[in-house]
Amino acid sequence: MSPINVTIWHEFRHEKQHKLVADIYPRGMHEAIADGLRARGEFAIHLATLDEPEHGLSDEVLRATDVMIWWGHAAHDEVRDDIAEKVVQRVWQGMGLIVLHSGHFSKPFMRLMGTDCALRWREANDRERIWVVNPAHPIAQGLPDYFEIAEEEMYGEHFGVPQPDELVFISWFTGGEVFRSGCCWYRGMGKVFYFRPGHETYPTYYHPLVLQVLANGVRWAAPTPVSRFTRDVSRPSAPLEELGPGVTLVKDPSLHSR
Ligand code: ZN
Repeated sequence: MSPINVTIWHEFRHEKQHKLVADIYPRGMHEAIADGLRARGEFAIHLATLDEPEHGLSDEVLRATDVMIWWGHAAHDEVRDDIAEKVVQRVWQGMGLIVLHSGHFSKPFMRLMGTDCALRWREANDRERIWVVNPAHPIAQGLPDYFEIAEEEMYGEHFGVPQPDELVFISWFTGGEVFRSGCCWYRGMGKVFYFRPGHETYPTYYHPLVLQVLANGVRWAAPTPVSRFTRDVSRPSAPLEELGPGVTLVKDPSLHSR
């Protein structure tokens, strides 16, 4: 079986600007995630960052990507609109998209959701307890009933996204808040998974169960055989049955469209 081609896209600014973050992720968060996925031996990993030409997302890279993982925070506005749109188009064609943590305000995610994607937050070393609320879901495979991250930023409801098609995790925080922390949506031929943990000042992307969720997420979001090609859905449709008496096919639909 050919490996799943994963592109990990990272804004990669905090590590360059804040010593605290650089100390935790000396090569960047994307490298920590890449190491965790590579160890599974079933993914081909490609890295792309904001400051590369075309943000590292050339047409060739986008075409070759089965699943994209996206981490952004401080520089959402610097992502070119045309490139964000290409990412969205690839999702519609069948590419999987895994959006992490503060990526809830990224251009591709907001465009795919169509809502404000707002939430409450607090930086206060909260403990996060992540409950599996859909144990049969592929993204929950191999996980215990719940697992904990010792210190994380808190995200709280209400999370301004469309009702998830599938909800996999709910997080509880020391401060008492809860949050829908693992949400799945189907968009066109593609699948979108939002996974909450991953604030830059905590070593979250070394947590073995966080990495397991990401590996499960990649497998879930990968294109299925049906979505490996683009279905040309917007086209005239020839009738499958005889149209019958009184029903006439319009020969020049453009005359009929208004
Ligand atoms: Zn954060």
